[in-house]
Amino acid sequence: MQRIQTAAELQALLASSPSSTNCTCSLGACAGWESFSEYRWPKDTQQIATLRDPELYEPTFVELHPQGTRYESPDAPVAVNFFPYNRCDLWKCHTCKRHLLRYTEYGGYNVDPRVRALDPNLTLLD
Ligand SMILES: [Zn+2]
Repeated sequence: MQRIQTAAELQALLASSPSSTNCTCSLGACAGWESFSEYRWPKDTQQIATLRDPELYEPTFVELHPQGTRYESPDAPVAVNFFPYNRCDLWKCHTCKRHLLRYTEYGGYNVDPRVRALDPNLTLLD
């Protein structure tokens, strides 16, 4: 599994990704981070890379928002070494051709899978 460590590496993988407005799959737009139930995850998807460092037990929870965006903002930058991107896997949906980031948020007894579609117009940061 390819590991992505820089914005440039992620950019290269997104070259073929269409705008999220073309989406027809079961996840909907998910421009910002959204919780989803496993049954909504499209079947015709494939994991193509990971942003996680396998050597790191607890990646940082610090977020990076130089333009004043928030975690859930649709235009929040994708900062590959900051929360929550530093614990994401990169998937490709073969139905809508989008790239999707997913990770699992753990809260108490709950596991909360979250997804964000990677629009190619998003700002990518290291
Ligand atoms: Zn899709």
